[in-house]
Formats: sequence, structure tokens, C-alpha cells
Amino acid sequence: MILILFFGSMMGEKITENFKLDKILRVDLTSGSVKSEPLERGAKELIGGKGVAAFYMLKEVKPEIDPLSPENRLIFSWGPLTGLAPTTSRLVVSTKSPLTGTFLDSYSGGMFPAKLRFGLPGHVAIIFEGKAEEMCYLSVDHGNAELVPAPELRGKSVFELYQKFGDGAEIAGIGVGGEKMVRYATISSDRGTHHAGRGGAGAVMGSKNLKCVVVKSDPPALPKEIRDLAAAYVKKLRENPGTQWAIQIGTAGTTFSSQSAGLLPSLGWRMGRFFGYDSIGPEKVKESVKERKTCYFCPLACGYALKLKGKFEIETRKGPEYETIAMLGPNCGIDDLSAISKLDSLCGEYGIDTIEVGNIIGWLMRCNEEGIKIFDIKFGDVEKCIQVIEAIAHRDGRLGNTLADGLKKAASVFGGEDFIAECKGMGYPGYDPRGSVAMALAYATSDRGACHKRSWAVGPTTFWGDAPYDYEKAPRFVKEDHDNNSALWCLAICDFASPVYLEDLGSEWLRALGYNFTREQLKSLGAKVWSMVREFNVRHGFDRKDDYLPKIMTRPLEGEGPARGKSIDPEKFNQMLDKYYELQGWTKDGKPKSSFGL
Ligand code: SF4
Repeated sequence: MILILFFGSMMGEKITENFKLDKILRVDLTSGSVKSEPLERGAKELIGGKGVAAFYMLKEVKPEIDPLSPENRLIFSWGPLTGLAPTTSRLVVSTKSPLTGTFLDSYSGGMFPAKLRFGLPGHVAIIFEGKAEEMCYLSVDHGNAELVPAPELRGKSVFELYQKFGDGAEIAGIGVGGEKMVRYATISSDRGTHHAGRGGAGAVMGSKNLKCVVVKSDPPALPKEIRDLAAAYVKKLRENPGTQWAIQIGTAGTTFSSQSAGLLPSLGWRMGRFFGYDSIGPEKVKESVKERKTCYFCPLACGYALKLKGKFEIETRKGPEYETIAMLGPNCGIDDLSAISKLDSLCGEYGIDTIEVGNIIGWLMRCNEEGIKIFDIKFGDVEKCIQVIEAIAHRDGRLGNTLADGLKKAASVFGGEDFIAECKGMGYPGYDPRGSVAMALAYATSDRGACHKRSWAVGPTTFWGDAPYDYEKAPRFVKEDHDNNSALWCLAICDFASPVYLEDLGSEWLRALGYNFTREQLKSLGAKVWSMVREFNVRHGFDRKDDYLPKIMTRPLEGEGPARGKSIDPEKFNQMLDKYYELQGWTKDGKPKSSFGL
């Protein structure tokens, strides 16, 4: 039975509001204990977000720990700016990934992260450990936290949870995919419209019998100094040339860039230009916008909800965003935005990652076309896509159960390894490296498996740069992104606001909130956190052999566009890796030369 405790020794008390975050909330799901702890000194130096999560993961999650066992940790963290500065309502979800076995940090926005920070004043993270006997949720209500048994929540989508908890509550939780421990299940918030999407944190939550976190809180009163600073940043964000794309049409605009550069994954990574582009491109999105969507306190409002009439008549609550469009659309040969939205909604309802699903379905289709008999599904077959998603979410039958373990596992069981695009078991996102070679390095060296968020080198090298096939410049771009993004993620700042926040990496805001960091110190902090996570991964068995190029990238890209006929040269790829490790100060095997001693 789950005990219900109110902050241990702080029962009934409200935590005094302050802007300095120096506590964590530790939730032991096995015993039911919910306690506030001081943030350890070593973690304090890492501020919050990814840094604090990296500290506790390195210290507490040992190599032998199975990601889906009670011993794994699931950490929700945020930063001192969260909810106070514009574009900072971001939740960092960290754990040992059940998909890749690496450190995993996944990010989501919306209202939930700010509400959570306001609901737990003075705290920078929640660490979940253990496993509850039956399904439960964590209630955070104006400074009080308790675990509540709730077996009746099993089977519900995050959207349905809102109907139970009513107005005024924000929720982050799992759907059926997380309960069934699909290894790429998401943790979703804001009525199921924002997702900590990649790497399977939702499966870890499901393995702990934790359905959701429900938060009720109010924003604190802010001193004039903070309000003035916020107003100045709103202006900067609105006026910066680097954020105009977000204001205009959000991530949907990327479809144009990828199609133009010839690196839009199409037909199971066969081509880099999509024949049905006009039906799924930014113009189609623009004409279908029902309303724009935003996170808490963001002047960019990059999101959108669509009203579509095509194969399906559908109104989306948010999205689909670029990655989903690319992977469930062109990569699966689907040229109907309403059909892509239908598949996206289904993935959202079950809480599974659309990038993995798009990779898996595109791979099944490609295998079918190449004569590898796994499942009879042709490019563009939306009805069969729905069947596959249902099977994955419920782990139905041998096919659904195997696909729920991920692309790499599925290929090892069924064959078709030559046609998977992945690294460390995580499917490639929507930028084919054959049209932007730096992305091959970015995917290989990303700490959580193939990811475009740690380094989006496709932007400066290809979309607005002139070095798409330059192997020599790539390592520097990638290393720079890794350091900068790690610093911004210790503060949990939205990536899309980086044109503004990269100027000082958030140091002005930190000073206003009582922290003392220069830009240079923050940059070093980013590099330090990146190496801490690398140490975690090395301890868990990863090194150079795992920073690989999938075989499919050595085949020439087919179809039209500037990257037609291009492939990644394995020898030059290895030289990029050498250079990248050298820049990081790691050994030739990709191992940090010193340990953080945790
Ligand atoms: S830019 Fe978009 S994702 Fe980022 S905080 Fe604003 S609305 Fe959210």
C-alpha cells in the first residue's frame, strides 16, 4: 500500500518562495515516501535542468541497472529561469533510456513546466525511484506533494486525465504506450499536446506504476526588476531576425528547407525529395491553421492547431510539427496532411514517439518493397499504418511486441538491417545526412542516440550555410552546439529562443536571480555537463564502436535534388569522429580522460 506523506518534516507547511533553487523532491514509489532534500553541493554548481539530472544519474544509476527496473531513476528538472523569463517553460525529463541504454534527457514545453516550478518553490528537480505496488500519481498542490493510489487511471490517455482532474490542474503523464512499456513511449503534458518524446522516458514511468504528475499552483509575484528584464527579453525575442521563422509558421517551415536541400527523408530513407511536397509543405500548413499555440509566457508562439479536410476530416489540438510531418509523411510515402495528422493524433493518444514510429513504418514499407517479407504494407497505405500503431501501442502479437522494442531490435529479429537509419537504437530524425554530412557526426555523437537537438548543424552548414558536404568543418560545428546546448539546457531554455539567449547564455538572467555566472563560465559548464554524460555512457558500456554510421547512409541517395547520388564516406566519417574526440579532449576511443568521481 502507498503511504501518503506531505513533504516528510514539512507536513502542512508552505515552502517559502524564493528564486534560488536549492532543493530536490525525492519520491520513493516503493515506500511511498515524498521528501524534500537539499541539493548536493556538486549539483548546485550545475545550476539545474540537464546539469542537475546528469549529476544524480551519474551518482545513483549504476551500470548494472536495467532501465525498466525500480532502481532506475526518473528525474523531472527545470531551472532558475523557468516560468520567469520568456521561453523558459521547459521540463527536462532524464533517465537511463530503455531504448538505447544511454543517459536520456528529453524536453517538453507548454504550461506544465512553469506550473510545476511554481508548485514546488525552491526546488529544481523531482527524483522518482522504486516502483509503486499499484498505479498512482503524484499530486503537487501549492507547495504540498503526496502520492495518491489511482488504479482507475490505467488505460487513460493524458487528454482523458484532464477530464478527471478538472480545470486549474496541469498534468504530465503516460498513455497506454507507457503502461505497456513501449521503449519509445513519451511523457506528455498540456492535454497531450507537448511531449518529452524521444528515448522512452514514458516506459520508465510506466515501469514504476506512476501514471502522472498533477500540479496546481499560482505564479509568484515578481519584483519590478524581474518584470522589466522579462519585458526587455520579450522585445528582443520578437525582434531578433533568428526567431522570425518561429513567429511566422513554426517548425512547419523546415519542410521547405529540407526539401530544397534534398535531405527530406522520403520512402524509407530512399530519397531526399518528396513527390507530394505541395500537399504537406508549409503553404498547406499555413492555409490550414485554425489557431496559433504557445507555451507559458512565450512571445514567439511557434505552435499551431490545424483544421484539415482530406482523407480525414480532422482538427488537431496542436501540430503536427516538422519532425512528425517528415517521418510519418514523406518517409512513409504519405502525401496527405490530414492523414499525417490522424497518425500523429493516434501516437499522441497512446503516448509514443512519432519519429520512431515513422522510422519503423517507413522501414517496414521499404523492406516490403525490397522483397524482405515482414509485413505486407506499401508506401502510402494509411490504414495499415493505423494497424501498426495500434499493434505497437498494445504490444499486440509478435509483430507489435517486437516493434515496441524499437527499430534496431526489430531488424535483429526480422532482418532488413541494411535499411534502418539509427544510432544506438534511436531512429534518425528528419534530416538525411547525405545532404548535410555534419548531421552524420551529430547523430553519431549525440549522447542519447541519433538526435538532431544536441547539434542542429544542418542549419549553419546547409540551410543557410555553404558547407553541406564539408567533412572538415563539421566537428567544430557539432562540438560548439554540444557545449552551448548543454549550457542552455542547465537553464532549461527553449532551443528556438537560442538566437537571443546564446548572446550571454543566460548570465544576465542568472545574475538577476542571485546566481553568479559569466558567459565563459556557462560555456565551460556546458562542456563539463556534456563530458559528465559521456562518462555515464562510457560506464554503461558505450564508446567509439557505438558512435557509428548506419549502412544505409553509405548507399547513394536516390531521386531528385542537390544531394542526389551522395552518400557518406565511411573513412571521412571516421576522420570526423577523430577530430571531434580531439576537440572534446577525449581518447581515440571516445572516452573522457578524467572522471568526475561520482
Ligand atoms: S518558441 Fe515555441 S516551443 Fe519554444 S517556448 Fe515558445 S511556443 Fe514553446
